[in-house]
Amino acid sequence: MDHIPTPEHPFRPIHVPWLGGSQKLKVNYEYDSKGFLDFPSRHGWNTQSLQDANFEGKNAAQTAAFLQEWLYFGLISSVFQICGISFNRHDFIRRTSGLGKKKYRAFVTTRTLGKKLQQWYDKEKYGSSSTKSEHEQDIRYNFTFTSGVLEAFNRKLRSAGDNVEEATYLRNCLPGEAELSVVVLLATIQYFHMVIYDPPSRLVVPTCPWLSSLMVSEGWCVGQVTKLWRRHNNVLTMYYFKMLGPPTAKKDHSRCSATRCAANDVLEDIYATAHCPVEPSFMHFQVPKMITKRMNCRCGGHMGPPSDKLVAIIKDGKIPIISVRCPTTTQNGKWDDSLDLRVIAYTGDTPYIAISHVWSDGLGNPRANTLPICQLKALRTQLQYMILTNPEYFDDIFPEGLHIHKTARLERLHFWIDTLCVPVNDLEMRKKAILDMRNVYEAASAVLVKDAELNAQSRYCPLEEVMARVCVSPWCGRLWTLQEGTLNDRVFVQMSHKEVVMLDDLNEPTRALVLLSDELLDAESADLIEPISGSLNGDHNGAPGHMDFAAKFAACPSAILSMNVLPGSIGSNPISRQTKAELFLQILTEVQCRETSKASDEAICITTLLDAGVEDVLRENTHDGRWTVFLSVVEDVISARIIFASLPRMALDGYNWAPRTFLSCAQGPELARVVNIHGFDPGNQELQQDSDIEEPNHTRHVSRPVRIGERGLMVAFTGLTFQPLTNPLSPEFCFTEDDGNVTYWCVTEYSPVHFAAYFEGTAFLREESWDAVKPGAPSRLSVVLENHFSDPTAPVRGALLTNCRDEANVVYGRYLCLVLVMRTTKSYQPPAFELAKEKMVQNTDHAQWELAVAAKFDGQQEWCIA
Ligand SMILES: [Zn+2]
Ligand SMILES: [Zn+2]
Repeated sequence: MDHIPTPEHPFRPIHVPWLGGSQKLKVNYEYDSKGFLDFPSRHGWNTQSLQDANFEGKNAAQTAAFLQEWLYFGLISSVFQICGISFNRHDFIRRTSGLGKKKYRAFVTTRTLGKKLQQWYDKEKYGSSSTKSEHEQDIRYNFTFTSGVLEAFNRKLRSAGDNVEEATYLRNCLPGEAELSVVVLLATIQYFHMVIYDPPSRLVVPTCPWLSSLMVSEGWCVGQVTKLWRRHNNVLTMYYFKMLGPPTAKKDHSRCSATRCAANDVLEDIYATAHCPVEPSFMHFQVPKMITKRMNCRCGGHMGPPSDKLVAIIKDGKIPIISVRCPTTTQNGKWDDSLDLRVIAYTGDTPYIAISHVWSDGLGNPRANTLPICQLKALRTQLQYMILTNPEYFDDIFPEGLHIHKTARLERLHFWIDTLCVPVNDLEMRKKAILDMRNVYEAASAVLVKDAELNAQSRYCPLEEVMARVCVSPWCGRLWTLQEGTLNDRVFVQMSHKEVVMLDDLNEPTRALVLLSDELLDAESADLIEPISGSLNGDHNGAPGHMDFAAKFAACPSAILSMNVLPGSIGSNPISRQTKAELFLQILTEVQCRETSKASDEAICITTLLDAGVEDVLRENTHDGRWTVFLSVVEDVISARIIFASLPRMALDGYNWAPRTFLSCAQGPELARVVNIHGFDPGNQELQQDSDIEEPNHTRHVSRPVRIGERGLMVAFTGLTFQPLTNPLSPEFCFTEDDGNVTYWCVTEYSPVHFAAYFEGTAFLREESWDAVKPGAPSRLSVVLENHFSDPTAPVRGALLTNCRDEANVVYGRYLCLVLVMRTTKSYQPPAFELAKEKMVQNTDHAQWELAVAAKFDGQQEWCIA
């Protein structure tokens, strides 16, 4: 995997052993270039079994050597063979002699891969479109086959579960390093496939669970690893993150789960404000934070603004800012570093810096508006250093021209930090201060990001490495810091030794790199003709002075591409004025990988970023109250299809249809069902309705506006109602239409196996168990359908309603759950249907499996979903 960029000092590099070199194997599986798919059968393996990851109990070492030869060397050879590029697999094997031993060890190396990839690119550039499309499909076929085998392998490994013997055998058949190298190869091919062929759909690279478990074993939090996969969804990026090494700031991960890291949540009851850790430079070793917390600090205790003054400023509608004196020499020659802390109202003459910090690092205080004096002094030193070393950004703080002189000195410093400036004991004033948060970050001269993890890292390493560190930092995973980092154009991140780096500087060169990648590949291709023709003739030396392919390649892969996720400036940029729907979608995309300690903060943060409705949200005190107000704020941009999105839902009368949260659960494609991005065009709807009548199979493209009424969400869709139940409902059920010719098979969210299979593991599954709908009044069920059935094999999503009744042509019902509806006819039956049918028919005493249709509605039918 040497072709992938790594951090400057990679943490525990991974070497991929060459498994085919051992004398003990007694078999030689060298790839023969006679066809990728039937390679196994030429060596006595059953391709079908291998596709199911069934190794038939064969010797694990031999299986491993075979799989590596086939899935790694075979795949890469086949890709180059398809495009007529010579390939010698011995270039990919590096032998080292063990020190003092006679034993040789061999590793897989990709040092020459970059050159080959460049040849691939150059060769296809002049190919005819028919040849290219042929190559594209052939490569796609081998690629998909390989990733299918890996996925089957990991499914099998998961189902082996606690069976240690079985799991060990399987792992020995495909060692983790070998598996990772195949996935990395697939990701590399995927990237070039995309750049070279511009295919109709992108190839999908499988994930690598082994890499995740390796990271966890090295000290990463499992919840954090899950989150990084979800956000970046790219093995090259994850491989880069792994090489950064695990986080160094020690935090309590005992409350974390496989899906969520809770280490940065603030538990107010036990929260301890930290004193400034002893500067490591004064000590010969770093003092663990637990000890410094307990050590008596001699700074003299806490300090903060007088509350009456603080409250008065907020009451007056102004921003309170903290003013401290900079250290100075007094007239009698003594050094005076007292703080002289005051709180003043921001007027414009007192430019200030807003602090954005991760509370779990200890700079918060849930009980009083105070901080230890040592922390305040450290903060002052940091701010002073930042301003003096970056004077070009602080014209407003320096009197004109002063910064040119080395003698530049600051009298006083002004800053804003939530711990001191948001009242903790006056609820009304606290709300008023939070309401003004957007202003606070917009009006600041700059924002300083403080995060213990980043604080320990050097600024002087390649920019993409600094950026990667920011990506994996706790700061980038918190909800509040999103607005703090996006509402100001000058965001500085504090690194080690008081150095700061600007967030924008991190984003810019990377963006440039990504844009360049195509050009980079194109660059100097004239010079490349020589080496290409040379290598086609079997000459691998190339012409002297040719481009450094490795460097070129290192500059462009999707590792960097997909790392580009630092929050863009949301909303404040007038040039890219977005519609409310676009902004909402962007915010949801950003928040899906962030977390917060208090669930009720989500509504505040999202409305602050939207710059709409914060005041109304803050008027409420409960989570449900705030959330329902938030829903009314975004009512005009919500899509009616929200009822078909796979999301956790509220349990509240009238709002059972509504998502409960967007944090840590919403997947990108699901968000398209949440936001009505195209807006509403009444003329369009008319057209759409007409065409719906003429072509019953027409898929609706324009979402209609939704209305959140007193009795529930009003939407219009096609659907059916059913006759009342005679038995409790089964979590999978069916109904029949058209005189028994078509049966519809419905799988609810409560039937996790079949439901999750459709989503390929990305579904949000209900935590609670199926509480069956019983016969009686609630048992009048309906299914609201998202689309008509056009594709015979694709399930249509539906919303299952209970307690249904008709009133004035509107069907009223209570949202129960999401269902997948599959149309099964005599000619098409999904494979799982028969199994489910058999099982359910046997269970007839306990559950009702077949529903009788009462009425069928077209796409104009109005539903009111509570
Ligand atoms: Zn954790
Ligand atoms: Zn102290």
